[in-house]
Amino acid sequence: MRDTKTALKNTMKRADRDLVALGIAAGAILMFLGTGGSVLPQIARSWMGIGTGPDTLLVNALLLNVALIIFGWRRYRELLEEIEERKSAEERARVLAETDPLTGCLNRRSIAPATDEMIAREGASDRHVAFVMIDLDNFKQVNDVHGHSAGDKVLREIAERITALLPRDGLCARLGGDEFACVIPRGDNNNEQIERFAARLIERVAAPIHLGEVGVEVTISVGLAIDDAGSFGTEPPDAKGLMHKADIAMYHAKKQGKNRHFWFEPQMEDELRFRHRLEHALRQGIVEREFVPFYEQQIDLKSGEILGFEMLARWKSEEFGHLGPSTFIPVAEEMGLIAPLSEMLIEQALEDAKTWDPKLTLAVNISALQLHDPWFSQRILKLLVKHNFPPERLDIEITESCLQENVALVRSMIASLRNQGVKISLDDFGTGYSSLAQLRNLPFDQLKIDRSFIGELREDGSGRKIVDAIIQLGDGLEMPVTAEGVEDDSILGALSGFKSIKGQGYHYGQPEDAATVRTRLEALGRLAEHSADGDGAPVVSDDEPDTDDRMQAGNA
Ligand code: C2E
Ligand code: CA
Ligand code: CA
Repeated sequence: MRDTKTALKNTMKRADRDLVALGIAAGAILMFLGTGGSVLPQIARSWMGIGTGPDTLLVNALLLNVALIIFGWRRYRELLEEIEERKSAEERARVLAETDPLTGCLNRRSIAPATDEMIAREGASDRHVAFVMIDLDNFKQVNDVHGHSAGDKVLREIAERITALLPRDGLCARLGGDEFACVIPRGDNNNEQIERFAARLIERVAAPIHLGEVGVEVTISVGLAIDDAGSFGTEPPDAKGLMHKADIAMYHAKKQGKNRHFWFEPQMEDELRFRHRLEHALRQGIVEREFVPFYEQQIDLKSGEILGFEMLARWKSEEFGHLGPSTFIPVAEEMGLIAPLSEMLIEQALEDAKTWDPKLTLAVNISALQLHDPWFSQRILKLLVKHNFPPERLDIEITESCLQENVALVRSMIASLRNQGVKISLDDFGTGYSSLAQLRNLPFDQLKIDRSFIGELREDGSGRKIVDAIIQLGDGLEMPVTAEGVEDDSILGALSGFKSIKGQGYHYGQPEDAATVRTRLEALGRLAEHSADGDGAPVVSDDEPDTDDRMQAGNA
């Protein structure tokens, strides 16, 4: 790019010089006409023998003029050539400035004016323009697993697939990273053609891309927006507005599970604004320590005795009031803040649990994302050391979704935690896709039957059979079983028919805060007589950053 610019500058300098040369030649022609006017008749007369010879000075001047004219003519021809060269250099510079070098598509800078042009052109004949925002769903993974040059190849292939489907007057741009956009004149009066384009795009891009021996599959989320009154109201539509709306629709498609398309609707903008407020408040909430652990009792169903508590996160948000984890955990996960948030809660829970009877266990929920961190087990062990908490009292609940990716890493983390005495439970069992082989190979300490199955115990029939089957499975694998969602006497009654299992649920009360739990345990005489002396804490040594450091990172 820089080379083209310098070449362009040089050509322009030379062209300036040549203009001077052309000026000199023009002057020479004028002088030639002037001197020629008096010299040539003198020469003619001397040839005819009627006069003296021409004035030598004038002849010399005439010859000089001829030389200057020849010189000027040559420079003029060169100048024409250089102007051509300059034009093509300018053209090259323009193309470079407007296209994405990797894919040859337009780039972010050039798509906006091209869209505005199309809006004006189509608008003149009362037609509309659709903007199609395309974002790859799993491109980071392709880069991480196969390397950047494979990533480039995937991007080029996708650009080709998109362009192949593009209607004749459509435009395609790569906006950066793994984001593409198309702009299409709608033509007739409905959106069907655009819908079809989006659907075919999703299907076509999803076909495997071959990288040597391996094939990778990439999906896309697509947002669609059109420059009509439905989206723009009274504002005049423009590229910037269209792009913004298509982006919001694309974001919505991501939220709805990716690999799909959505048209922009005005209420999506409100949802997005709410989401931004929530994200802002969540960041602030972590700093202000608005997240607190609540506790749900875990009971031995035979004796009715409390065996421990499951910690459930709650957010006492200044802005939004009290919120449950299903609202904020997914947001924290997407913001990359789940690990510091979770560790902050676990630290509080360890302190709370230290004041309880040391026989009582503490169960905590872990997000699948936390298990992507190869340091996860070290981090947990470090917290146990920091808070002098015996690892045998800690029970980590992971869901089946954790087992979908990177089973080898999960297995080694489970193994290292169990080596230190920490228990691992498989939560919400029956709702995911863990195979029997995985269950046999992954050393869980406990299965928790999802409350959807337990709820069905109220009615006679298939519900009971499933619970029975899971309990037998646990028996065979030597994994104790906990029933979640014991809501009332009828469920409790149905469970009493099974051999000894643990249970938890609203039948024993709603999850409670630390102070209420303490009052409950005090009444039962089950508070710790002495604080734990730390003998049981595990030994860890590594230099992984602390939770506080990572919170800073999440804030950055
Ligand atoms: P979970 O691990 O399955 O937790 C049990 C959920 O069921 C809790 O909802 C609890 O309040 C609710 N529950 C308990 N007993 C009953 C009952 O008898 N009937 C019914 N219908 N529900 C009952 P909660 O607190 O809203 O938590 C929802 C989910 O959020 C949890 O499901 C867990 O997966 C997740 N979660 C909670 N705290 C954390 C956390 O600190 N980190 C992570 N990663 N996830 C958490
Ligand atoms: Ca749980
Ligand atoms: Ca559960």
